[in-house]
Amino acid sequence: MSTRRRIGVMGGTFDPIHHGHLVAASEVQALFGLEQVIFVPTGQPWQKSHAEVSPAEHRYLMTVIATASNPRFTVSRVDIDRPGPTYTIDTLRDLRAELPDDELFFITGADALADILGWKDADRLWQLAHFIGVTRPGHLLSDKGLPEDRVTLQEVPAMAISSTDCRARVAAGEPVWYLVPDGVVQYINKYCLYTGAPCGAPPVE
Ligand code: ATP
Ligand code: MG
Repeated sequence: MSTRRRIGVMGGTFDPIHHGHLVAASEVQALFGLEQVIFVPTGQPWQKSHAEVSPAEHRYLMTVIATASNPRFTVSRVDIDRPGPTYTIDTLRDLRAELPDDELFFITGADALADILGWKDADRLWQLAHFIGVTRPGHLLSDKGLPEDRVTLQEVPAMAISSTDCRARVAAGEPVWYLVPDGVVQYINKYCLYTGAPCGAPPVE
């Protein structure tokens, strides 16, 4: 039996982090017997370079607030401290260097997994981690071309929550209570994120 620790890696823009991310990570942690899930907020996301993305420190701090109460969840700065756009290959290489003896499980939504063959150095990704594509119940994924021994699909409870929707709700003055953790609602209000309005609170460094 292998004694390697099993570590989950959940990359994301987390702008903001929401209960869909947290439920997916928690489900996969329990089902795959993961010791820890490391949340990794992206630096400048290359897929989203044309969209407005909140400063990395805000996204990092919201991720810390959202995960602080779970002893199995941690947050890594590897992507936000690396200059330039974030590529998953670099995230996994950096984490592998920090955790050379552990087995990595990269958790990603089915939407992102479907694009995985287009990612930089896709072939080499499979050597660095096992991939777990989380889907909503009933979601069908065409997995053509993905190596079956390195990719597992896992249904998680239906949660129609997305960061895009959360941002739109805040911008429209609608509530995001219960879609994101309470501390994240308060953080968004404190720094007036997603409103486009000037804010009284001093910006984070
Ligand atoms: P946006 O709407 O800005 O694209 P998002 O809600 O998709 O944001 P990301 O930070 O882009 O959030 O997602 C990080 C990871 O979490 C991705 O792998 C994504 O597929 C996955 N994910 C996003 N929303 C959910 C959800 N409701 N349930 C499970 N996984 C999710
Ligand atoms: Mg997304």
